Amino acid sequence: MSEKTPSLSSKIRICYDHKKLGNFSENQVRFYLRYSSFVLRVLRKPSFQKFLHWMLKKETIKERAVSAVHIKVLPLRRKNGRGIAGKCNTTRGRIHIYPKTTKFCRIFTRKFGRNTLLAYVGNRARAALIHELLHLKYIEDEKTVMELAKEYFYIFTREHFTQSAYSLVICTMIFNAKISGKRAPPSVSYDPSIRLRLTDTCLRASGVFN
Ligand SMILES: [Zn+2]
Repeated sequence: MSEKTPSLSSKIRICYDHKKLGNFSENQVRFYLRYSSFVLRVLRKPSFQKFLHWMLKKETIKERAVSAVHIKVLPLRRKNGRGIAGKCNTTRGRIHIYPKTTKFCRIFTRKFGRNTLLAYVGNRARAALIHELLHLKYIEDEKTVMELAKEYFYIFTREHFTQSAYSLVICTMIFNAKISGKRAPPSVSYDPSIRLRLTDTCLRASGVFN
C-alpha cells in the first residue's frame, strides 16, 4: 500500500512569536494578523495549489520535500533595510513567507487603492512561494530560481487573471520594473502605450520602497 503524503496545502500555516508581537502597537498587530490570514487563504486556494502541484511535478520536486510553509506574521528586513519576501531552509524543507510592513501598505494604498494592494499582497506571496519551492531543487542557484520563478508566475497569472493589462501591472510591480524595455512576459499581448504607463506605474511602485 502506498503511503499517503499530506498535501502541500495542509502544510501551510500562520506562524508568530508572541514575544515579538509585543513590540508592536495593537493596530499593527491587528493589521499583520489580517494580512497573514489573507495570505493563508490566497496560498491555499485550490486553483493555486493545483498549479503548484503541476509545477513541482514538472520540476521533479517531491511534495514531501516540503516539510512546512510558515506564513510569518511579522516582516523581516535585510541589513540594507529592504524587506524579504521569503526564505527556504533546503535541508529541512521549511519555507517562510514574510509580509510587507504596515508603512509600505499604507503608502501603497494611498497611491494605488486598496484593491490593488490586495492584488499585490496576494501575488507577492504566490511569487515568493513559487520562488522558495524552486530553491528545493536549485538550492543556491539564485539566477535559475529567479528566471524560472518569473516564468512560472506568469504562467499562473496569465491563466487566472483575464484582464491581462491589469495582471501585467501586478507582475511588473512584483518583479520591479525589470521587464520594461527588455522583453515582455511570454504570451501577454499589449500595446506600447500601455508599456509606457506600466513603466510609470512601476517606477512609482518601486518608489514606495524608499
Ligand atoms: Zn532566492
